[in-house]
Amino acid sequence: MNIGIDIDDTMTDTTKLANAILHNEYPNLNIKDYHELKKEDFIKFCELHLPEIQKYMVLKDGVVETLKFWKKKGYKIYIITARGSKGMNFLIPITLEFLKNNNIPYDEIIFKQERKGNACKNKNIDIFIDDKEKVLDEVKKKNPNIRTIRFLNKKEVSKHESVRSWFEINI
Ligand SMILES: [Mg+2]
Repeated sequence: MNIGIDIDDTMTDTTKLANAILHNEYPNLNIKDYHELKKEDFIKFCELHLPEIQKYMVLKDGVVETLKFWKKKGYKIYIITARGSKGMNFLIPITLEFLKNNNIPYDEIIFKQERKGNACKNKNIDIFIDDKEKVLDEVKKKNPNIRTIRFLNKKEVSKHESVRSWFEINI
């Protein structure tokens, strides 16, 4: 069994933390979410605040326990992330360090994947977990037999199988 997993807002609460820092540092900014920043401002924000974001970033409850359990069962874990794209190569070493420091078991990490369908195909992923509907839609389109699981962070609905906690993931 090959399991593919996203990092941001799936394994971690990245957006919540980044937005807290955004609103604290720039109280007059008229946006809710740091993803709404213009591309250059987004990159600048990440470069400037990522060390802080990484320092305080925590894993969602149950991530390490679940991944260890899957490894014990002999499943392969592929982390498939957009990190490193948009010229943000500096995120790669930061991410590897974070995974190591948090004892996250995985077999392989694939960076720079804003669309993840091809990576899922190349790695023969059976189950893919992500928080973004459009990412899962594209994955499903390229891999019709894949089981897609959406990690919901807010009051959202999804056409994919959905969970709100790692303890709900039943594999
Ligand atoms: Mg994500």
